Amino acid sequence: MMKSRWRRIYKLGIRCPICGKPDWCMVSDTWVCCARTPSSRRLGNAGWLHPWPDVKTPPIINGEQPETDEKPAILNVIDVYSYFSRYTTTERLEWHAKNLGVSRLSLELLGTLCNKAGDSLIFPMRSGRSLEIIGFRVRKFDGSKRSIKGSKEGLFVVPTIRPPLETLIIVEGPTDTVAGLHLDLPVIGRPSCNCGNDHILAIVKRLRPTTVVIIADNDEPGIEGAKNTASQLRVPCQIAILPCKDLREFVQKGGTKKDLLRIIYNAPFVNTHNFVRKVIRSINEQPDWLEAYVSSTE
Ligand SMILES: [Zn+2]
Repeated sequence: MMKSRWRRIYKLGIRCPICGKPDWCMVSDTWVCCARTPSSRRLGNAGWLHPWPDVKTPPIINGEQPETDEKPAILNVIDVYSYFSRYTTTERLEWHAKNLGVSRLSLELLGTLCNKAGDSLIFPMRSGRSLEIIGFRVRKFDGSKRSIKGSKEGLFVVPTIRPPLETLIIVEGPTDTVAGLHLDLPVIGRPSCNCGNDHILAIVKRLRPTTVVIIADNDEPGIEGAKNTASQLRVPCQIAILPCKDLREFVQKGGTKKDLLRIIYNAPFVNTHNFVRKVIRSINEQPDWLEAYVSSTE
């Protein structure tokens, strides 16, 4: 029998498939332990056991089936989770993690799922404002990418990320995000090098980091996309360029956290004008501080 591990739904950033609430309940790959909805099987003080809701129709993966209807698809996050969770075992995640050259934990932190055949990983994409799931990226073993029908593009981010955060590191795509998590870095992933800016601005506002580092893919679109994002941020931002294709390759080739921090240390700040202007404005708008001094000494 396969070993079943309980995970709190708030750590996965999903809603309970039984009661619909975002906290208290737990899930494993085969069972849901709902803290609110009674069933005939009690699990200690944690709640009651329920099987995952049986979603028989698999979620449609864009581009894999011919388009049949023109209706805009609505993404049902709980259904997608319910369907794929029964195929998401520790063993499968371990296998994918080994292939990517990262730890299994770094996949689990993002709430990654497996497909039925076991040859693809399914990464939740989240809103930068609420961290709720707004889409799913499907990454096949060969590296090809698709999405679940009805998905919106969002961030690859650990849903329990909280301020205060000194530095936020932004990378591109889900596998670079897991590579960053593997190095134990405060990392989020954008959907691609030239989209997701709105979500990035929203999450930077939410997490209020002192500085941001964008790790750009070592190619022209990567660097241009990073510059574009940096120009919109109102916090000091560095652009770091790796000596290889991307962060996953960096980790696969044996790059360590220390190596990466050295690259970040040497990376230039690119948007200084954004906050220098802010500093000048704040000096100009400062109340007469000397007057306050004089009146207090009189
Ligand atoms: Zn529940």
